[in-house]
Amino acid sequence: MNDLIKISRLEIYAYHGVFPEENKLGQKFLVSLKLYMDLSKAAKNDDLTLSLDYGEVCGKVSDFVKGNRFDLIETLAYGITELLLDEYELLTSVETTVEKPWAPVGLPLDTVSVTVKRMRHTAYIAVGSNMGDKENYINTAIQSIDHTRGCKVKKISSLIATKPYGVLDQPDFLNGALSVSTYLEPFELLKLLQKLEQDAQRVRERRWGPRTLDLDIILFDDLVITDDDLCVPHIDMQNREFVLKPLAEIAPYSVHPLFRKTISQMYSELKGAEQ
Ligand code: ATP
Ligand code: MG
Ligand code: MG
Repeated sequence: MNDLIKISRLEIYAYHGVFPEENKLGQKFLVSLKLYMDLSKAAKNDDLTLSLDYGEVCGKVSDFVKGNRFDLIETLAYGITELLLDEYELLTSVETTVEKPWAPVGLPLDTVSVTVKRMRHTAYIAVGSNMGDKENYINTAIQSIDHTRGCKVKKISSLIATKPYGVLDQPDFLNGALSVSTYLEPFELLKLLQKLEQDAQRVRERRWGPRTLDLDIILFDDLVITDDDLCVPHIDMQNREFVLKPLAEIAPYSVHPLFRKTISQMYSELKGAEQ
């Protein structure tokens, strides 16, 4: 979204900093915000309720800056950014700059500042289980994702029973897919999913072996990531009916950023290839 509300250098007296005198005496902080959203409806209807009340935003930011004490302005800037994304669903992206004009560095300077930017992303996650109460493991994980700060589950596919893939001598799976709107970054999301797998007492004994819960990131916006610990789009999604079928139910027109094909196209091609 390119529409933007800008708030420049809101002045707030507070007590952040690593030095004892900063915590005792306090100092001036200047907060600037770039708030991105779609303002077309608000503009056409001339209606504040469809926009953002920037007076209210300033009040919330001021309360947060005064009501907390952090060592770092980095932490403060992140905190403000997340607070605003939590509070205002219509925000697609927030950029926060915190300036500290009286930073005690012992040398003349104009200001020291930190800028952070966070935006909402759409991630598609494949979920699978083939041990114990499969449905319960899956539903618990979906709920936990939805209850995680910065994550909202938007769509959930039907759960389908599937035959094992790769390692065949194991129980059948239950598989599904979900879409999540999140301001977590890809590795933060991976960390969350791995924590939920651990919470489900997942034990990794052999590759593609039985598991209580598997949560894989399939797509993350149109990002391409090729890291040892994270490959996005999921490297083998094009070969997996148990991924493409549920995904095609909730995101048929999402596009694989490398193959340039929609999910429904990839699913049809896989089914065609199987026949
Ligand atoms: P597969 O990835 O082939 O479905 P798996 O899900 O059984 O296999 P796991 O044991 O869950 O594999 O994960 C193995 C490693 O894969 C993890 O340590 C993780 O860092 C890495 N990984 C790479 N890309 C992804 C991704 N897109 N989503 C989740 N994990 C990923
Ligand atoms: Mg997997
Ligand atoms: Mg996995």
